[in-house]
Amino acid sequence: MKFFSQTQWNLKNCVIFLDVDGTLVGEGGSKLDKASLKAFSKLKKNNTLILCSNSPKKERTQKLAEQLNVDWTKGSHKKPHKEVLGELKFPKNKKKVMIGNLFCIDGRFAKNISAQFFPVKTVVSPHEAWPNKFFYIIDRYFFSLWI
Ligand SMILES: [Mg+2]
Repeated sequence: MKFFSQTQWNLKNCVIFLDVDGTLVGEGGSKLDKASLKAFSKLKKNNTLILCSNSPKKERTQKLAEQLNVDWTKGSHKKPHKEVLGELKFPKNKKKVMIGNLFCIDGRFAKNISAQFFPVKTVVSPHEAWPNKFFYIIDRYFFSLWI
């Protein structure tokens, strides 16, 4: 499995829901590195991108969305619940894709909204708490089996 920054998908005409923490940035991060920005720009050319974060740091996500010039999940619903979709505007006739690092949240969300799930390797920030790191392992080796 690759980090988002290493991916080279040839996606066109899709609505892409993009997880933030652990996918675009490390937990709580607010800036994409060069490689991630490049991968992001490539996807943005031919698709509708929406930042899809469960983080309580809404201001961070809003800023990031504004910088990247895409929509984001401002509503009260959270992944993996499909009600998240009701709070967003996007072309309904297009194929849906969910890109994220967690099977138990992003993978289940994809299933709930009939999107294709593209899992990516988790970006772990240097100050990441050990329970998080432990959880990433559980997610990868356990949750991934029954999603
Ligand atoms: Mg994540």
